[in-house]
Amino acid sequence: MSISNPSLPLPLTKGGKAEENYVGRFAPSPTGPLHFGSLITAVASYCDARAHQGKWLVRIEDTDIPRIYPGSEEHILRAMDAFGFDPNAEIIFQKDRLDIYEGVIEQLRHQGLVYACQCTRKMLGSNHIYQGTCRDLNLPFEHQAIRLKVEDIEICFDDPLQGRHCSNLKQDLGDFVLKRRDGIINYQLAVVVDDYLQGMTHVVRGADLLDNTERQIYLGQLLGYPRLQYMHLPLAMNDQGQKLSKQNLAQALDLTQAPQLLQQALTALHQPDVELDTPERMLKQAVAQWNIKQIPHTTELQGHYL
Ligand code: GLU
Repeated sequence: MSISNPSLPLPLTKGGKAEENYVGRFAPSPTGPLHFGSLITAVASYCDARAHQGKWLVRIEDTDIPRIYPGSEEHILRAMDAFGFDPNAEIIFQKDRLDIYEGVIEQLRHQGLVYACQCTRKMLGSNHIYQGTCRDLNLPFEHQAIRLKVEDIEICFDDPLQGRHCSNLKQDLGDFVLKRRDGIINYQLAVVVDDYLQGMTHVVRGADLLDNTERQIYLGQLLGYPRLQYMHLPLAMNDQGQKLSKQNLAQALDLTQAPQLLQQALTALHQPDVELDTPERMLKQAVAQWNIKQIPHTTELQGHYL
C-alpha cells in the first residue's frame, strides 16, 4: 500500500498560512494514567489552538503495545470529559492505523531511504550514535529493525519558548529506527505520519521531546510533508528533580478535582487567574486570556509537583 492510496485520510488543511488554519493536538501515550505534567500539555495545546481560532485534536499514541498500562486509555478519555476538553474530531488510536505506517515504510523503501538492520542493543553497546553497520548489507526486511538513512546536514527550528534548536542527525544520532525488530512501529514514524494526515500545523508538547524534533522534521521533509511549528513547554518536576512520569510515580489526575487542577495548571504556565467554575467555562476564560509570552522560557518549571 502506498501513502497516495485514495482510501487513506487526506489532511484536513491544505495550503494557506499556518496561522489561518491552526490545527493542534494533544497526543498522550497510554503508558500510565494522566498526571499533572500531561494536564499542563493538554491545557497549553488546547488554549493555544483555540486562542488562534484553531482546531484541537486528540490522538492516543498506543503503537508500543508492551508499554500500554491497563486502564490508562479509559482514564485519558474520562479525563478529556472531566476537564471539559472538546476535540474537533473523533479521537484516533494509532494501533488502528498500523497499515498506514507500514505503507509509508514501503514508500521509503522504494525510495531507497530505509534498510533492514540486525544489530541488537547488545551489539551496539554504549555507543549511542549508530555507525551504519547494516546500511549496505541489503538484509531482507522481514523480522529486522528498519532504519532511516540520515544525511550529514544540520536541521534547525525556532521554538517560541526554547529558542533555536539544531542537530546534525548523522553526527548526533546516526540512522534511526522506524520499526523495531519485534514489529512495533516507532513513535518517530507514527507521529510524523499522523501529524500530516490530521492536517496538523502546530505541535505544543513537553520539553522532554525537544531532542526528537529534528528527527521528525527530517522525516517529514523526506516524505514531502509541510513543516510544522513546534513549541516545547517547561516540564513539571517532582521533589527529586525528576520530570513527572509514571516511572517516577507521578500521581494520577484526580478527576473529581478538575476545576482546582485546571487552575493549578494555568498557574504553572504563568497564565492569569481564572474563576473557579465548571471546567468548560474555566477553559473559555483561559483561552480568552491566553498569552504565551508569560510561559517561562525554560525547560523546567520552578517548584515541585506531585
Ligand atoms: N505520545 C507522546 C508522549 O505521550 C507525545 C508525542 C508528541 O506530542 O509528539 O510523550
